[in-house]
Amino acid sequence: MSCDFLTLATAGVQKLQPYQPGKPMEELQRELGLREVIKLASNENPLGPGTLAREAVRAQVDELGRYPDGNGFALKQTIGERVGVRTDTITLGNGSNDVLELIVRAFCTSGHEVIFSQHAFAVYPIATQAVGATAVVTAARDWGHDLEAMACAISERTRVIFVANPNNPTGTWTSSETLKYLLSSTPDDVLVVVDEAYREYVDEAHYPNCAAWIEDYPNLIVSRSFSKIYGLGGLRVGYAISHPMVADILNRVRQPFNVNNLAMVAAVAALKDEEHIAASTELNRLELARLTQAFTAMGLSYVPSVGNFVSVDVGRDALPVYEALLREGVIVRPIGGGYEMPNHLRITVGLESENSRFLKALEKVLSDTSPP
Ligand code: PMP
Repeated sequence: MSCDFLTLATAGVQKLQPYQPGKPMEELQRELGLREVIKLASNENPLGPGTLAREAVRAQVDELGRYPDGNGFALKQTIGERVGVRTDTITLGNGSNDVLELIVRAFCTSGHEVIFSQHAFAVYPIATQAVGATAVVTAARDWGHDLEAMACAISERTRVIFVANPNNPTGTWTSSETLKYLLSSTPDDVLVVVDEAYREYVDEAHYPNCAAWIEDYPNLIVSRSFSKIYGLGGLRVGYAISHPMVADILNRVRQPFNVNNLAMVAAVAALKDEEHIAASTELNRLELARLTQAFTAMGLSYVPSVGNFVSVDVGRDALPVYEALLREGVIVRPIGGGYEMPNHLRITVGLESENSRFLKALEKVLSDTSPP
């Protein structure tokens, strides 16, 4: 009998449950022999990348034989200008997922606690478990994060607090005032990570500009993504903004070339493509409203969202509904399991035609599968 390799893995890894991504379109096409499949399951921009990013990638193809700039000089310069931060506060990541993991890997061991909310983004428990740290999960309030409960959960062992703003999969958000309350209740040696993967979609007067707070709160880390509004999910690029000393530590643990050539030139171009950003937010605004109006008309409740997705309560176990939608060629995201929302499905806001097709399929499926 060969070795039971699981016993050799670290204690954290032994209990690790891998992240469940949205089902790939090709997989559903293969499994069900369907040609026309739509995917509203991974919070991607339905318009894809903008013209400037596409052109930048094409122009870079001949350079693929070269290693990327390991310090990401050009991308950090552009982020610095656009966001209004010094380049020594920036850490680039292979997606923002990478920086979230780097933070836990650099700062937490089995003796530490990591605080996050019920219904929060699934990578927080995974990153915590991977290093054998203890997850402290605070109960949600109205589906959103309860920052008072998070502040109360801080102990001597707490090293990191994750706040998703907005949160995935609930689309809930936290105001400047509430976030400042948490930051001022947090000891200096506890890192507060504000995950802003969807920030560009938010149109709320009291939504914070945390990147401007780094000097006031040296224990604050802000993470951002190019996978959402910038339409570059397939390239894997994101970044963190933090105190330069924290950035220096994160840069020690990251792989030397964690962001590739194409991702870097595309990200530079995407940051400058204001037309594409405007078109993407406008499409999202209109179509999110259309989806939620249709849910109300169907008698379904949903969690009000400021992101490019919305979680709808289908009034029964959502898994059979998800499976029936797959048979209609529509991929959405079930969020039972770790997200603890077994009656909800998370729908990414797609193109007008995709949302219409989804709504038609949902109506059909719900009338075929009656609630218990
Ligand atoms: N944070 C949140 C809240 C997310 O939903 C996601 C992606 N689903 C990420 C971070 C990671 O995105 P990426 O690694 O593509 O930047």
